[in-house]
Amino acid sequence: MMIGITFLGVGSAFTTQEYYQSNILITTANGKSLLLDCGSDIRFSIREIKSRKEYSDIVIDAVYISHCHSDHVGGLEFLAVTNYFSDRRGKLKLFAEENLLWSLWNETLKGLINCIQGKSMQIDDYFICNPLGDNSSFKWEGLSFTLVKMPHIAYDGGTKYSYGLLIGNSSTGKHTVFISTDTQFQPDTLSLLAPEVEVIFHDCETTPFKTGVHAHYEELLSLPVAIRNKMWLYHYNPDPAYDPVTDGFKGFVAKGQDFLFD
Ligand SMILES: [Zn+2]
Repeated sequence: MMIGITFLGVGSAFTTQEYYQSNILITTANGKSLLLDCGSDIRFSIREIKSRKEYSDIVIDAVYISHCHSDHVGGLEFLAVTNYFSDRRGKLKLFAEENLLWSLWNETLKGLINCIQGKSMQIDDYFICNPLGDNSSFKWEGLSFTLVKMPHIAYDGGTKYSYGLLIGNSSTGKHTVFISTDTQFQPDTLSLLAPEVEVIFHDCETTPFKTGVHAHYEELLSLPVAIRNKMWLYHYNPDPAYDPVTDGFKGFVAKGQDFLFD
């Protein structure tokens, strides 16, 4: 089963159109796509990818949400409403960790789209919801996805997590790719996962100061070379002043770059 991974964007939360926010399209051989995160600039980044011939007919069948920040969910109002009024046959499938899914509707989307043309709306009116347990797996179009709970923001009320994904062929159960989503530096998790996968796509902050909520380039540089050799970096800041290939990484993913795995 083929896995196509296309980066609609590779930038950080408040990035520019040269990079777009880090939202990713997972595609299968049958042409269906799962959108991994749906940030506030999605209507531009989707339009840009559809301008390429090979993507002109893509159909978004499902959405996976890693966490509730605007660069990952801010485009869901657009997606939900345009899909609701489109002549597309069905609702979009929505996959997310169960507490996150609750918060996605009750703390984020409800205030935006809880009514439409005289009708009260619930999340189920827009999406076929698939609440997922911590570290659970789900299947979609012959692919398997396993959630990996990553700490993103530590605050006085606890920790806000983002749910990364291991992706593989559901018939073999083997993982091919790990996508970190937004995370603090987690060397122990990376050491465990790296031998299992061919490639790691990792969140990478490149500002001179470290915010502590993303893995910084210099932290990732401290990883063993065997891990760096599998690692593509994304979610970086504009004009990064680093040379990742010289440093043993695969490189910075470019906006629109795509990858194909068997
Ligand atoms: Zn982000």
